[in-house]
Amino acid sequence: MAITIKNAREIDAMRRAGLVVAKVHVAVEKAIEPGITTRDLDDIAKQIIRDEGATSSFLGHHGFTGRICASVNEEIVHGIPGKKRLKEGDIISVDVGAIVDGFHGDSAWTYAVGAIDEESRRLLDVTERSLYVGIAAARAGSRLGAIGEAVESLVTAEGYGMVREYGGHGIGRSMWEEPHVPNHGKASDGVRLRPGMTLAIEPMVNLGGDDTETLGDGWTVVTADRKRSAHFEHTVVITDGEAEILTPRLAVVV
Ligand code: MG
Ligand code: MG
Repeated sequence: MAITIKNAREIDAMRRAGLVVAKVHVAVEKAIEPGITTRDLDDIAKQIIRDEGATSSFLGHHGFTGRICASVNEEIVHGIPGKKRLKEGDIISVDVGAIVDGFHGDSAWTYAVGAIDEESRRLLDVTERSLYVGIAAARAGSRLGAIGEAVESLVTAEGYGMVREYGGHGIGRSMWEEPHVPNHGKASDGVRLRPGMTLAIEPMVNLGGDDTETLGDGWTVVTADRKRSAHFEHTVVITDGEAEILTPRLAVVV
């Protein structure tokens, strides 16, 4: 499938989908505390997505049973919400997707459960920064590889492992569209970015090594060395200037 360029009406639908996703994040972040289950967090997402008149991007996708992916500690992505109870000191990555008027928004964030150790705090900070350097590199006229080069150079300079088997993606009428958006590579690689391209940029960064495994549930991706991992993601649209973030938390009025 070719890369699609969205028009103003389509970008507006994606902005509205992104706002629903951002609302879920604001509510989930507020609810996260020791003792809550990942299913409780999924229920919050269910309620907000329904109240907003949106639908979940994830529920039913290849049989997935949640509205969020909830990935705790060594889990990188695609954790299934369930009975797992969060404990003080855990970190949890929450990934949410919502559809409004046929268009998707997709954003992930890693949260601290109560007080976390310094090592985990730094992992979260570096991963979040790597998302923003990736977004800053997503400019019309540059190539797709500029995003991966920016993310990778920060993450490796900070001494962390990089997840290379998974990455970001084009997004729009489908949650996954062309192109694949790697979190590594060279600025000279890939297609040239153009205004109206919509991308999910989503670095996944490990305290230890790069390698991953998928658990027996067929979904949950974990670090091979079982060290912690963080995941930060925004959906953005390429413009004539800086990319516009379509899933901005600050737009949510609480
Ligand atoms: Mg996502
Ligand atoms: Mg995504």
